[in-house]
Amino acid sequence: MASTLSKILHKDVTGERLREYPELKEFPDDRRRHKAYTAAIKEVAKRNHFPLLARLAFFSFCILGFSLMGYLGAADMLMRRTAAVALCVYILLELWIYRWAIPRVRQELRRMLDRHAYCCRQCGYALFGNASGRCPECGTEVAADQRRLILSQAEIGLEIGDRLGVE
Ligand SMILES: [Zn+2]
Repeated sequence: MASTLSKILHKDVTGERLREYPELKEFPDDRRRHKAYTAAIKEVAKRNHFPLLARLAFFSFCILGFSLMGYLGAADMLMRRTAAVALCVYILLELWIYRWAIPRVRQELRRMLDRHAYCCRQCGYALFGNASGRCPECGTEVAADQRRLILSQAEIGLEIGDRLGVE
């Protein structure tokens, strides 16, 4: 039951998400896509305060506006119309935040894929500079395509270990 529910939740039914975030196609299955997607969103939210501040500003403005209208004794009709307009503005604001987040989430997903490419597919150990063709952590053999990637990286002497946030 729980697994069926999670399958449904993780399924990108309309394909909209995959169109919006083509990087997700690189992840092997729906569950991992969903995991990567939520992790990327969390990361973007952690690094940027713009969405939070925009919502806070909007709600502060609403509270202030409605308090003022109440204080001035505005008619019910006017209050209701203003509330409807505020709701529309809020929906637009959320859409705007969504659009704003897309390139940032995609960048985060690319970063995750990049990290993933150099890690042991079995245990996730970072394999930078690995020459033995075997993961020193769990002993799994490094796949040929991955070994080529690691070797090419070592050949051009890229120091990318420092930007590797191994989990
Ligand atoms: Zn390993």
